[in-house]
Amino acid sequence: MRAVRANLVLVALLLAVSACAGGGRPVDLANVTSVNRPTPVGAEENPPASTGSSAPTPDCDPRASFRPDGGLPPAGQMPGNSTMRAIQDRGQLIAGVDQNTFLFGFRNPTTNALEGFDIDIVREIAKAIFGDQNNTVRFKVVTSAGRIKALQDGDVDVVVRTMTATCERWKDINFSAIYYMAGQRLLVDHASKITSLDQLGGQKVCAAKGSTSIKTIAANPAKLIPVQVDNWSDCLIMLQQGQVEAVSTDDTILAGMVAQDPNVKMAGPKFTEEPYGIGIPKANVDMVKFVNGVLERAVAEGRWAASYNKWLGQTGEARATPPPPVYQD
Ligand code: GLU
Repeated sequence: MRAVRANLVLVALLLAVSACAGGGRPVDLANVTSVNRPTPVGAEENPPASTGSSAPTPDCDPRASFRPDGGLPPAGQMPGNSTMRAIQDRGQLIAGVDQNTFLFGFRNPTTNALEGFDIDIVREIAKAIFGDQNNTVRFKVVTSAGRIKALQDGDVDVVVRTMTATCERWKDINFSAIYYMAGQRLLVDHASKITSLDQLGGQKVCAAKGSTSIKTIAANPAKLIPVQVDNWSDCLIMLQQGQVEAVSTDDTILAGMVAQDPNVKMAGPKFTEEPYGIGIPKANVDMVKFVNGVLERAVAEGRWAASYNKWLGQTGEARATPPPPVYQD
């Protein structure tokens, strides 16, 4: 029996060898100097400047939002005819979020649930409307480039997705008060000596399409080669594979990448301010005021700090408090 099995193995080996030999000339490995790794779907080098709304951008304070009207209505009793009442009657808050940004909006691979600092804020808003945060949120994953359209098309009630409030974006949507102050930095290989964008002339630097980060990279006078992708996780992979020299975006997003991969590090100081606001459709000013009341209450009752400590307390970033709210009146 053993002999039969040994013969079968031999036959199989011979077949395998002849199959290889029949495939034409073998590749001479001595001449293989590099392997072209596939780039992520949608990756684009030196993209044309993004075509936002063509109207001129008025000067504004992008942090100034709408002051809450008095106290919050009791959960489950949203005022008649309000945006919040329509959401309450629908039974779910529809929230645009990310699923690829560790610490802010990511999918827990064990539970499949969305988690992170931005996700906690979504649940805070749902709890204020319904009194219950379970099964009262429908999450819709949106890319950086898809955030404004999702709000304009009415696909989502809010976008809570590492979104910088800018005057240009205020033309198309409203923002809540600022719930986190981030800033753009650099992420490089652990062995790299690079500490600023200026040192990266002629080299590839990755950021997401539709982000403020990709614009800042493209505007740098050192003439870097911006590489834009759909998701932040694509940037990390391109850096790991040596397809780009650096990733540059908010310190918050980069902190998540450092937590996931000890071979990369943040380098140099912050060189922009990225005040995060919750995006809300232009028509829904009542919702903006309501959300600002929810944010004030979450800060006052310690839930903002609890979420910060849970997600960002271990990243080595200085402990932060939220910026005090600024209102337009
Ligand atoms: N905060 C920046 C922005 O809103 C970059 C982060 C992102 O795109 O997710 O454009």
